[in-house]
Amino acid sequence: MSSMPPTELTLRDVYAARQRIASVAARTPLAPSPTLSGLAGARVRLKLECVQHTGSFKVRGAANKLSSLSDEERARGVITFSTGNHGRAVAFVARQAGVKAVICLSEMVPANKVEGVRQFGAEVVRHGQSQDEAMARAYELVEERGLTLVHPFDDPQVIAGQGTIGLEILEELPGVDTVLVPLSGGGLIGGVALALKAANPGTRVVGVSMARGAAMYHSLQAGKPVQVAEKETLADSLSGGVGLDNRYTFEMVRRFVDEVVLLAEEEIAEGMAFTLEEHRLIVEGAGAVGIAALLRGKVTDLGREVAVVVSGGNVDIAQVLGLVQEYRPTP
Ligand SMILES: *Cc1c(COP(=O)(O)O)cnc(C)c1O
Repeated sequence: MSSMPPTELTLRDVYAARQRIASVAARTPLAPSPTLSGLAGARVRLKLECVQHTGSFKVRGAANKLSSLSDEERARGVITFSTGNHGRAVAFVARQAGVKAVICLSEMVPANKVEGVRQFGAEVVRHGQSQDEAMARAYELVEERGLTLVHPFDDPQVIAGQGTIGLEILEELPGVDTVLVPLSGGGLIGGVALALKAANPGTRVVGVSMARGAAMYHSLQAGKPVQVAEKETLADSLSGGVGLDNRYTFEMVRRFVDEVVLLAEEEIAEGMAFTLEEHRLIVEGAGAVGIAALLRGKVTDLGREVAVVVSGGNVDIAQVLGLVQEYRPTP
């Protein structure tokens, strides 16, 4: 056998994940957005992972992965690399489970996110100028210290954990027509799409990335994972490559995702400002991309029922307030 197809991951794994993570990850609200609904001509609801424990959905995948480790692996500890949120989630879950965690962060990771990781008592290793360099350091430390890697997206247990968002959307909105999902490495959209398409293959799943460094978008165009230069962006949680040796998420995204749209920085800023003004919610750039895509009419054929995954809220509050001054929606 050469390589196992990603179909080895099934809806059953997502249901199993839900059981395992129930005591660690919260079920988040699916909040209506009347203003977005009016603009989009569809009923729009927001899946609020910005109010999830640790401020992002990443706690779902991290909790599922850690609960699948052997006693020996737990005793040795875990390691990861992260643009911030995954590291924070791993640190949070590891502390609850009494497992030692090492988190590799590049120098690009914003200060509020570094602090967010340290807060949960993990060992932080700052390394390199990009997510890819932080990743390389993490793989070295796997070898040196015998730690278990908790990959931020390309791991079946992590993908299944993120997929529990899809189950929650389906329970409240069984007839959902279109779901917008922030897209970076593809663990989130892969898991969510797996759950949604198992229930109804006709549900449209749309990925949203920033134009500055959209690694999965360019990989899809190329037909294989490609390296894309990392750039500074408001959607810092969407930075980083998909891995040239990608095993799961690239194929899942290729198979399950109907469309990927890209956003300019200004559009992401508008999304963040709108969400604070309209919903009184602080969301980070990555968390606002689905909302921003609707505000700019980037997705057509939405159908009647739309869900938008608002993936995280870990952003410097002063930064959001500044953006609101500049990009506040005009009444
Ligand atoms: C990690 C992250 C994403 C992207 O998830 P992938 O599984 O890498 O596609 C989106 N939004 C936020 C807030 C994140 O932390």
